[in-house]
Amino acid sequence: MARNRHQTAIRFCAAVLSMAWLGAAPVQADDGQGVQRLYLLNCGENDTKDVSAWSPGVDVGQPRTFSDSCYLIRHAKGLLLWEAGVSDAIAAMPDGLTVGNGMLTLHVRKTLRSQLQELGVSPADITHLGFSHFHGDHVGNANLFTSAKLYIQKAEYDTAFGPDAAKSGFNPAFYNRLRDSPVEVLEGDHDIFGDGSVIIYSTPGHTAGHQSLLVRLRKTGPVLLSGDAVHFRENWENRRVPARNFSQEQSLASMDKLAAILEREHATLWINHDKPQTDTLRHAPEYFE
Ligand SMILES: [Zn+2]
Repeated sequence: MARNRHQTAIRFCAAVLSMAWLGAAPVQADDGQGVQRLYLLNCGENDTKDVSAWSPGVDVGQPRTFSDSCYLIRHAKGLLLWEAGVSDAIAAMPDGLTVGNGMLTLHVRKTLRSQLQELGVSPADITHLGFSHFHGDHVGNANLFTSAKLYIQKAEYDTAFGPDAAKSGFNPAFYNRLRDSPVEVLEGDHDIFGDGSVIIYSTPGHTAGHQSLLVRLRKTGPVLLSGDAVHFRENWENRRVPARNFSQEQSLASMDKLAAILEREHATLWINHDKPQTDTLRHAPEYFE
C-alpha cells in the first residue's frame, strides 16, 4: 500500500508538471468515436480562513483558496456536463457569499452559462448530467440543465430528493427542477456511453452517494475527476479526511479505490478543489482531447 501511494504521488506530480502522460495508450481506435473533447470550466473560487476543517489538526487557522471546476465532455453520442459549480447568481455579489457559519466564502468570477455560451453551447444542449455529490458548490447551477439525463447514486438520490436533504447539508433550491428529469439511479460503477470511455465510479464517504469520473482522452490519456473524494494534494498524499465527511471509513476506502484505478489505468488524478493543480490546467475555450 505504501508503495502504491508513493507511486501515485509521483504520478500526480509528474502529470501536473507535464500534461503529456507518456504511459497512456489510445483507447478508441476510430476517429470520431468516444470522447472528442474535455473543456475545463471555472465554476467558482472559494476562500476559507481555516483549512483545518478539511485537514483535521493540520494547518489550523491557515487560509486557503479552493478552485471549483466543472467539466464539459463532448462525446460522439452526446454532451456531458460533470459538476455544476457555485451558483451563477453569486457573480453579482462583489464580496461573494459566505456560508457554513463563516467557514467558506464563495466567489464566481465568470458565470457557467457565459462560459458555455462562448463555446456555442446552451443549457438545453446538455444531454448527460452528473455531479460528484449534491453540496451547493457542485450543484449551484443544476437547475439550468433540465433536459439532460441525470446520473446519480441511489444513496445520493434518496438524500437529495428525500425529506432530510437540508439535514445533510443539501439545498434543494439549487436542483429541485431536476426532480422530473430523466434519471439513471445507480448502485455502483457505471459506463455512461457503453464504450468504456466515460465511467462513473462510486466513491462514497464525503457524502453517502459520492461518485468520481474517469474520462479516457485520446491524446491526454485517462483523467480521473476526484469530486470531493479528496480536496487537495496534501490530503491525498496523507489520506486526510475532513471531519464533516459523511463517513470516515468509506472516505478512506474510496481513496484506496481511486488509487487502484489510477494504477490500473495509468490515469492522472484531477482534484477539483486543488487550486495549485487547477491553475496548471488549461481552461475553456481551450480543451483537452
Ligand atoms: Zn462537498
